[in-house]
Amino acid sequence: MYDGIVQELIDEFGRLPGIGPKSAQRITFHILQTPNFDVARLAELLTDIRQRVRFCEVCGNVSEQERCAICRDPRRNPALICVVEDAKDVSAIERTREFRGLYHVLGGAISPIAGIGPEDLRIAQLMTRLADGTVQEVILATNPNLEGRRRRPTSAVCWARSRSPCRAWPPASLSAETSSTLMR
Ligand SMILES: [Zn+2]
Repeated sequence: MYDGIVQELIDEFGRLPGIGPKSAQRITFHILQTPNFDVARLAELLTDIRQRVRFCEVCGNVSEQERCAICRDPRRNPALICVVEDAKDVSAIERTREFRGLYHVLGGAISPIAGIGPEDLRIAQLMTRLADGTVQEVILATNPNLEGRRRRPTSAVCWARSRSPCRAWPPASLSAETSSTLMR
């Protein structure tokens, strides 16, 4: 334990996902002891991210405008939608540069343990997007984890399956190396 503000900052970093007490301490002392560390820049970014970043009104991806860069890109194929749980998944798939369709971010996974049901996710928005017939194919890129195995198919997913060749991720068209990267 340290005195006052030092411990307060360590505790605050320790509350972040994936950062244990040792990492929290290391980050705090890095900020404290590195002469050229730009504290003002970090503080500015932390403030600005909450003010400037929103969620795309179409797909739910992070964006600084009403529609994200992917939804605004006319070269993307609007007939193909990849359904993912989080915006992080969009980033992972985009890094492969192999998917040219659009996305739909659910904003989490259905989890009875955590009390997250279909109504907490962006499933109604997915239904709306599928309604006008533009989308011909839906790819589910949700993770096959513990929650995934427990998850019942949502109504939107069942509906999408009934009207399009709904495939599991990753599609066979991706290289084996890319597929294994995405499934990790
Ligand atoms: Zn979007």
